[in-house]
Amino acid sequence: MSSSSTKTDVKSVIVIGAGMIGLATAWHLRKSGVEVTVVDKKGVAAGSSWGNAGWLTPALTLPLGEPSVLLSAPKTMLSSKSPLYIPLRFDLKLIRFLTGFAWHSLPRQWRKSMEIFAKVNPLGMPEFHELTDGGVKAPVKEAKPFLAGFLSEKDRKVLLHEFEVVEASGDKVSFDLVTGDELRQIEPTLSDAVSCGVLLHGQYFINPPKYMESLGDAVAKLGATLKSGFDAAAIDDTAKGVIVKATNGDALEADAVVIATGAWLGELARKFGVKAIVQAGRGYSFSVVPEVVPSHPIYFPAQRLACTPLGDRLRIGGMMEFRSVDAAPDKRRFRTLVEAGKPVFKGVDWDARKEEWVGGRPVTADGHALIGATKNPRVFVGGGHGMWGIALGPLTGKLLAGAIVGEPDPVLKHFDPLR
Ligand SMILES: Cc1cc2nc3c(=O)[nH]c(=O)nc-3n(C[C@H](O)[C@H](O)[C@H](O)COP(=O)(O)OP(=O)(O)OC[C@H]3O[C@@H](n4cnc5c(N)ncnc54)[C@H](O)[C@@H]3O)c2cc1C
Repeated sequence: MSSSSTKTDVKSVIVIGAGMIGLATAWHLRKSGVEVTVVDKKGVAAGSSWGNAGWLTPALTLPLGEPSVLLSAPKTMLSSKSPLYIPLRFDLKLIRFLTGFAWHSLPRQWRKSMEIFAKVNPLGMPEFHELTDGGVKAPVKEAKPFLAGFLSEKDRKVLLHEFEVVEASGDKVSFDLVTGDELRQIEPTLSDAVSCGVLLHGQYFINPPKYMESLGDAVAKLGATLKSGFDAAAIDDTAKGVIVKATNGDALEADAVVIATGAWLGELARKFGVKAIVQAGRGYSFSVVPEVVPSHPIYFPAQRLACTPLGDRLRIGGMMEFRSVDAAPDKRRFRTLVEAGKPVFKGVDWDARKEEWVGGRPVTADGHALIGATKNPRVFVGGGHGMWGIALGPLTGKLLAGAIVGEPDPVLKHFDPLR
């Protein structure tokens, strides 16, 4: 491995956070010959990179904030039965976040946002293939096809309208329309109430826990040190680098540091001029074993359900809850997911669900990630991908490692952490 391409002053990097972003960045840094230590307060995939849906779906990789959310959210968001739930409390930071989120959901801002997604989405998948070719063993599967199911034509029109906007933004979506019966021929576990569907082509998925474990192994195999139980509490500048201090008194030194702490990003990054709020958009998931386990990922946009086959189990996930990332799981939310799933599946024993999980998506108000240097040129951040940190994680890792060891790619102007 050659280190000739590295910036002369960055020979060692501490990456804080062993989620998708931290590990993908570590992988690319090792490939550039940089000495890397990845630390995590718990371990690999202790945050939202574990219980997510694992979809690598360029056709659906869109900003969370959009005009229809502005219309529907105020009516429903205070109910724990609503997919988007904001528990009522006085929290100035949350109010600031929501105000920014609402502004960026306005049609004009949203269209600008869509253009950035359209530019970046096609760059995401090749980075998964690079990781596979480079030794990450867990499979990246093509959906062949990816299914979306609906109880009515009216619901389907909403998704078709999204595709029109995606295409108007410069991206391509390849899909076919099918009846409920055609959908059931592919996945017999869908209920008779599912009346129509969409088959999406060119979409992929992973098994998140397996993939993350495999990525962690690959990073270690490349020579990085992975340290769990290191809860980073402070980052200080030294004359020639940085020192990262843990809550238990441990400390590590390196030439530079990457903060890739997901929904916790603001805690360490704020001191370095990162003003954008990273709010936890908490999601829930669990797994069940239907009588016929699906082999395709299935999306129910109207019910906001994301379903992914994970070997012999089906993961069912969804919900968006703006509250503290560290709050205890709200048990009512699992019940809400079950109630959303019952009408669209048959042959599922919902009481036998396992792996109940909650995790915080790192959501920014403008819907874009924070990738690059902070006001301290030795302190970098990578995160804030909201709903799409898995699909865009390997790309982020490559862009961020590139910015640390060389010149930032021009596309990073959209993701400036100091905006
Ligand atoms: C229900 C649900 C479904 C989703 N589905 C998809 C999907 O299909 N496709 C997709 O692309 N995305 C999806 N996402 C979003 C995706 O999971 C996230 O965007 C992504 O995992 C974020 O990765 P990350 O590395 O930034 O953060 P995380 O995975 O949260 O990792 C952050 C890590 O930092 C560690 N950490 C935090 N603070 C400290 C500290 N002070 N010191 C040390 N370590 C620390 C944590 O322990 C954690 O391991 C989904 C999310 C949810 C909740």
